[in-house]
Amino acid sequence: MPVDTASVEVTGWGRTAPTTAARLVRPRSYEEAADAVLDCAAPGARGGIARGLGRAYGDAAQNAGGCVLDMTGLDRIRTIDARDGVVVCDAGVSLHRLMEVLLPLGWFVPVTPGTRYVTVGGAIGADIHGKNHHVSGSFSRHVVSLDLLTADGEVRTVPAGTDLFDATAGGMGLTGVILSATVRLLPVETSWMSVDTERAADLDDLMDRLAATDHRYRYSVAWIDLLARGPAMGRSVLTRGEHAPSDALGARARREPLAFRPGRLPAAPGFVPEGLLGRASVGLFNALWYRRAPRARTGELQKLSAFFHPLDGVPHWNRVYGRGGFVQYQFVVGYGQEEALRRIVGRISRRGCPSFLAVLKRFGDGDPGWLSFPVPGWTLALDVPAGLPGLGAFLDGLDEEVVAAGGRVYLAKDSRLRPDLLAAMYPRLADFRALRAELDPRGVFTSDLSRRLSL
Ligand SMILES: Cc1cc2nc3c(=O)[nH]c(=O)nc-3n(C[C@H](O)[C@H](O)[C@H](O)COP(=O)(O)OP(=O)(O)OC[C@H]3O[C@@H](n4cnc5c(N)ncnc54)[C@H](O)[C@@H]3O)c2cc1C
Repeated sequence: MPVDTASVEVTGWGRTAPTTAARLVRPRSYEEAADAVLDCAAPGARGGIARGLGRAYGDAAQNAGGCVLDMTGLDRIRTIDARDGVVVCDAGVSLHRLMEVLLPLGWFVPVTPGTRYVTVGGAIGADIHGKNHHVSGSFSRHVVSLDLLTADGEVRTVPAGTDLFDATAGGMGLTGVILSATVRLLPVETSWMSVDTERAADLDDLMDRLAATDHRYRYSVAWIDLLARGPAMGRSVLTRGEHAPSDALGARARREPLAFRPGRLPAAPGFVPEGLLGRASVGLFNALWYRRAPRARTGELQKLSAFFHPLDGVPHWNRVYGRGGFVQYQFVVGYGQEEALRRIVGRISRRGCPSFLAVLKRFGDGDPGWLSFPVPGWTLALDVPAGLPGLGAFLDGLDEEVVAAGGRVYLAKDSRLRPDLLAAMYPRLADFRALRAELDPRGVFTSDLSRRLSL
């Protein structure tokens, strides 16, 4: 029997919009998953949505009054082709688990977000991107095929390059439940990164550096001080890197070049009282962070976990924003829209949003997923405490700027976007809706996000 719990509060990582699911079901086999989906389709059942590790910030993996399918019980790695670098695994397997198993064999996941505690299903559902988007595209570009459980309880094998695949990649769980996927991997010689760090004095300096030299690096990201004003607006610390070859390691690390033992600090304390993370304290933190970064350093060896997932070392770090939670706002505007980016960064900086986790990066070519977020351009992501006075109206204003510049916000981070802006942001939205209407005419797959945005 699957684990089945009634009346469970479910929320995203930002903790801004918790709702109560009538049922939380944790299937442990494909058959149990199919039974759960058929239950979701029963009259009066209010549908269902798949959930991975709940790292989407907003309301994508929750379903008020209906069913939530916790997919983490389906966590088998089925086959590994260690010669050609291909893994077949259940959708509930986390990227953390894949790293534990694959790194010692000399393979790495093709794309990782800022946390490795996401599932393969969540990685495809949101078509996640990493610091290598400008080189490698998003996660689904490396998926050869997937098995999808659709609303009729059938399992379809969906190869890349088909409409159903492109609707599912970034489709936020709304085409069905991904049961398993075949993913191509990246060969690595070590579990270390060779990292170059430099400071950029302001936003223009940062954009110039990124535009001039990003192509030399597989991974690139800039931490940006959004509280700096005047001539320092947009000052940043740029970190870029590549998987270190074995001959770059010292004698000790060379004994176990592919070891993967990420460190873990004590869990973050309980909720930090609201207001403690104000403009002054975060401004001080940001100034210190900027100054302690080297002006320029090359070839520093960092553990893979430190380079990609520094926050994973602090369990429950999302509590630092207090009980009210926090909004993560991420948008992209295309190349040629640098003026819009400057205006938006200026607005954030003048507004004094106390954000210490803000990053800017460049996206490469867009991905085939109809609702995939990345398009070629500049993407900025920032965390803001949800209780900041006037935040809703302020972010609505930023949305208008983003739309006017032909850009879009990222659904995996969203909990507040106005639905009328969506079609302008995602031109394939009509195709997505049409495919869903045909595949799932009774709307079995539904979520708080899909109802809020009429997806
Ligand atoms: C610290 C942190 C850093 C992050 N950094 C990045 C980043 O750099 N780049 C980036 O792109 N994202 C980033 N994210 C967001 C995160 O990668 C995505 O939200 C991802 O989808 C979370 O995966 P999950 O397994 O937790 O899925 P959930 O959050 O549980 O679900 C996310 C979506 O995927 C769907 N889904 C989950 N499992 C399945 C399944 N089996 N079948 C069908 N649909 C499914 C859900 O319905 C939902 O719509 C970050 C999040 C955090 C907390």
